[in-house]
Amino acid sequence: MLAEKRTVLLSGPDVGPLEQEYVLAALRSGWVAPAGPDLEFFEREIADRTGVPHAVAVNSGTAALHLALLSLGVGPGDLVVVPTLTFVATANAVVYTGATPVFVDCDPATGNLDPDLLAGVLAADASVRAVLTVDLYGACADYERIMPVCEGHGVPVIEDAAEALGAGHRGRPAGSFGRAAALSFNGNKIMTTSGGGMLLTADAELAARARHLAGQARLPAEHYEHAEIGYNYRLSNILAALGRAQLHRLDEMIERRRAVRDQYAKLFAHAGAVTLIGDDPGANCWLTGIVVDPERAGWHARDLAAHLAARGIETRPVFKPMHLQPVFAGARTALTGAAEQLFRNGLVLPSGSALTGDELRRVRDAVTEFLDGHR
Ligand SMILES: *Cc1c(COP(=O)(O)O)cnc(C)c1O
Repeated sequence: MLAEKRTVLLSGPDVGPLEQEYVLAALRSGWVAPAGPDLEFFEREIADRTGVPHAVAVNSGTAALHLALLSLGVGPGDLVVVPTLTFVATANAVVYTGATPVFVDCDPATGNLDPDLLAGVLAADASVRAVLTVDLYGACADYERIMPVCEGHGVPVIEDAAEALGAGHRGRPAGSFGRAAALSFNGNKIMTTSGGGMLLTADAELAARARHLAGQARLPAEHYEHAEIGYNYRLSNILAALGRAQLHRLDEMIERRRAVRDQYAKLFAHAGAVTLIGDDPGANCWLTGIVVDPERAGWHARDLAAHLAARGIETRPVFKPMHLQPVFAGARTALTGAAEQLFRNGLVLPSGSALTGDELRRVRDAVTEFLDGHR
């Protein structure tokens, strides 16, 4: 009875015996902190997985974004394009550097940066120093169109691939687009180190610069020499060990999330007026979101959310766009209304790889019951 009442989580961590084994081995090896062999292996393994030569492990995805911007020399007086439909960390990292975000709207089908709007912003303003792209919910942005636009204006791209490890776009892995990319290993992401991130780049100098800044900008001298302000952003060896175990299981976890998405695709196929956000064969299916046309469906996304919540099933609205956030009131924008539409009519459904067959049945039955009641 109690087990039946347990909340079905949106995207809980998926850890088991392999993770225990790796973390325990790291502890027993004596390499507790700060660095150690697991850290170096983890960086190499992530670099191999994403096909990017250099990987710098850090203690969050936000830190990876901040370091990527700093290492490109972004600072006060610069503008940085940020997709308005994202998690706040993308925009915060820009503000940390003293630069100013310009919020640009999204493609209504994927929620990813709108390449036409982007082209307009870059053509109109020469003070844009970088473009941040976000691979929303694990589906890559439209790099086919975004990269030529940015290259044409000589503006570097930084890929916020926090949600997209294991995804691909026309055969290229997420994290390999742009001058640098950021991954997140937060607890709710496709794989976790309980908290952590990684900066990826093909540029050896940029990687060295980021590594230097992540270690308090300490110069190689015994007496702690510092010529500039640095940050305490390194990941610990113990957490890297957890990451290595998770990376071993990444494909299996992606398969599981893909199966969850397939279940939703079937459930909503005949609902009419419901579409999956970013339905892309290359997606890692981190989170499955739907968008509802309330006029045609006769119900709102929030009605389904309430129905599921009453049955102990967690859902989440699509990210509230950055330009609607109080903290960014008055920010510069280029908008079409697409992100607001997704925010209003979207819903993110339980998508975790740790969902049990029982939990998936509960979700399926609750959704079916809702749809049957709204025909
Ligand atoms: C999770 C996330 C981040 C931040 O990652 P943390 O590891 O939590 O700092 C940045 N951008 C996006 C799009 C995210 O989803």
